[in-house]
Amino acid sequence: MIVCKFGGTSVANAEAIARAVDIVTARRDRRPVVVVSALGGVTNDLLDVAQRAASGNLLLAVTIVESLRARHLETVASLLDGSSERDEIEAEVSAGLDELAHLAEAFNTLGFVTPRSLDAVAAIGELLSSRIVAAAFRHRGIDAAWVDARDVTITDEHFTRAVPDVPRIAAAARDHLRPLAMRGVVPVVGGFVGATPSGVTTTLGRGGSDFSASLLGAALEADAIEIWTDVDGMLTADPRIIPSARLIDRIRFDEAAELAAFGAKVLHPSTIAPAVQRGIPVYVFNSRRPAGTGTMITFDAPRHPVRAIAGKRNTTLVKLRSARMLLAHGFLRSVFEVFDRHRTSIDVVTTSEVSVSVTLDDATHLEAIVADLSAFGDVSIEQQRGLVAIVGAGLADGAKTMAQALAAIDPISVHMASLSATGINFTLVVDDAQVVPAMQRLHETFFPEAA
Ligand code: ADP
Ligand code: ASP
Ligand code: MG
Repeated sequence: MIVCKFGGTSVANAEAIARAVDIVTARRDRRPVVVVSALGGVTNDLLDVAQRAASGNLLLAVTIVESLRARHLETVASLLDGSSERDEIEAEVSAGLDELAHLAEAFNTLGFVTPRSLDAVAAIGELLSSRIVAAAFRHRGIDAAWVDARDVTITDEHFTRAVPDVPRIAAAARDHLRPLAMRGVVPVVGGFVGATPSGVTTTLGRGGSDFSASLLGAALEADAIEIWTDVDGMLTADPRIIPSARLIDRIRFDEAAELAAFGAKVLHPSTIAPAVQRGIPVYVFNSRRPAGTGTMITFDAPRHPVRAIAGKRNTTLVKLRSARMLLAHGFLRSVFEVFDRHRTSIDVVTTSEVSVSVTLDDATHLEAIVADLSAFGDVSIEQQRGLVAIVGAGLADGAKTMAQALAAIDPISVHMASLSATGINFTLVVDDAQVVPAMQRLHETFFPEAA
């Protein structure tokens, strides 16, 4: 069994879905389970509907709903022309978007949206795309069955960023997906979407379809997890920032996980963990060029001092100075408990004898965090910071690569630096505006174009 996940651009329209049909057809004998994102850009539009409606602009919200309806119906019309299922799928699309319009009216009346209702809205994208793709597969001769993601991707109630319940997902995948795949039927499931054990819709967080694919791959003990996207694989940097970035043919799980966590959007940061636990290789392929070799992510790949550069903008730097830290044990635990309490994860940490500095990606609970940390000492906040990460399994080569990196970005100011003890990630905190120039210089240094 394999899991094939198609991202937003890989199912953006009828043409892209037709390519996905060919890719899955070529893999029929490997018993594929298909995970799909919403049609490209739809999740943004859905969230926009909710925000606009809640802030009083119902007219604009309804206009977006209608453009979503037109886009989905157009896709159905061109994919299911002549199919006996066309009417049924059109009715399902309309029902989903009618529900969205009703929700928008409710948000408009209330003047706010709750995380729970945001998830109900965001999930519509994958619930519709997965139905459309399943019907398109059937119309083109693949025996496929739509499976409701809410029956398999079971999570807790942490709406908008729900935590998967791995044992329940394993049981549900055995019940709902395995029997289909074993009979030669291709199950098609929406990514990103889940539900609590009592059936309330949740989502795994933005970009979460990759995570759905690896959770289901691990649950099914799949032979491979394939992430089909709009680039040739994992590259030495984001090609939107560094057009000359090169394809990485093989990369280690830990390197790929670092890159994802430090801004390489090609993989959701949680994708690697379930695959590593089961030793399932993850491949990244380009759905527009299915003959490409892609990237294989696995335990053993050749070591390179530097494998790739990643960057992340809009980071917050929190600095705590406290004389109490001097020689005190248990101090860091108390500090980290604050972040835990506010469900905020930390990207980078550095400490000195009397201070601890951390960077945060998500500043939603910053005010409460600062209030709690103030009990330990003086807290200062630096916003508009960014991170650049140099990732490679051979970074622990003494100071050579680090010195090269620092020389490459000079005179860009570095506010904080951290070399992971495993020697695989050297992260620098710079001004937000310097993230892109720093990435460009680092890429030029470690991956010179002439080489
Ligand atoms: P999908 O909708 O298929 O999930 P995403 O937009 O989430 O696609 O991820 C693919 C994008 O990730 C690429 O278009 C690329 O701009 C970006 N990206 C960032 N870093 C990297 C990298 N190191 N290698 C490849 N792509 C990257
Ligand atoms: N559609 C969701 C998003 O845009 C999930 C995904 O595409 O991975 O965030
Ligand atoms: Mg993605």
